[in-house]
Amino acid sequence: MRILLQFPEGLKQKALELARKYEGEGHEVFLSASPCYGACDLALDEARWIEADKIVHVGHSRFLSKDVGIPVEYIPYYVDIEIDSLEAVLPYIKSYKNIALATTVQHIHQFEEMKSFFERNGKKVFAEQGERAMERGQVLGCDAGAIKKVEGKVDAVVFVGSGIFHPLAIDVKKPVFVFNPYTKKVSDISADRERLKKLRKGAITKAFSCKKFAVLLSTKPGQFNLPQALWAKKELKKRGYECMILVANEFDPMAVGNFMAFDCLINTACPRIADDQEKFGKPLLNIAMLKELFEIADSAKS
Ligand code: SF4
Repeated sequence: MRILLQFPEGLKQKALELARKYEGEGHEVFLSASPCYGACDLALDEARWIEADKIVHVGHSRFLSKDVGIPVEYIPYYVDIEIDSLEAVLPYIKSYKNIALATTVQHIHQFEEMKSFFERNGKKVFAEQGERAMERGQVLGCDAGAIKKVEGKVDAVVFVGSGIFHPLAIDVKKPVFVFNPYTKKVSDISADRERLKKLRKGAITKAFSCKKFAVLLSTKPGQFNLPQALWAKKELKKRGYECMILVANEFDPMAVGNFMAFDCLINTACPRIADDQEKFGKPLLNIAMLKELFEIADSAKS
């Protein structure tokens, strides 16, 4: 069988090991070298070019429910955490009885153990399954529904995982405590949450004076949203703005910037591109932000 192996950036160093295993089993192996940020980002083009029989996608859980025209096998990459090290979180949540618990796909296999730990320590633990995530308590950079759905029942959120990319997706009006299982430290990300909010508000404000809009439409299978791009273009044109749709697999700020004419970008791809909008040098609005802009502008007119 001809297999295209695909790894996210943080796991590419493991690629050779797995490639050897498949070759040892008699398969023909190709490695996808394109950047990969999530399970939304299946290397379908590469698979078609090499006429692969299957994509093996490592490190993420299934994201797309639709048929993508080629079999995809998802191989999780789990990393065990020391459950007792969660003790570091207890002083931070001592005044909260009801907590929401979340983690990433790397540690989701221990979700029930983490939950039991907090229950043994007197907490009531809540979590649901998000819209795109496959497991209860799993948070993606674009889906914190696991927490959002229980926001009304909890006093605080505990997130287990390294980095702040995933916890910054948790948009709730409750304190969020992030436990890094590698450093065993708890951090407060409220300053980062504030910074993101301001960045997004600032972008909406700047967009008010823009006249020429470009809508970003990604061809990544889990990000491609043509109806949304067409809707944005139609609504912008209806309001008298000039608008074009830019299509790419990935949006490089320099390549986008070379279209000098546009003064505002509307993003229908990964919503977290909006976190990096300073790199684009012009306001970049997700669809929810564009709707906010329309609401403010339309109510100012009426
Ligand atoms: S859309 Fe963005 S945040 Fe969501 S899985 Fe893909 S890369 Fe991650």
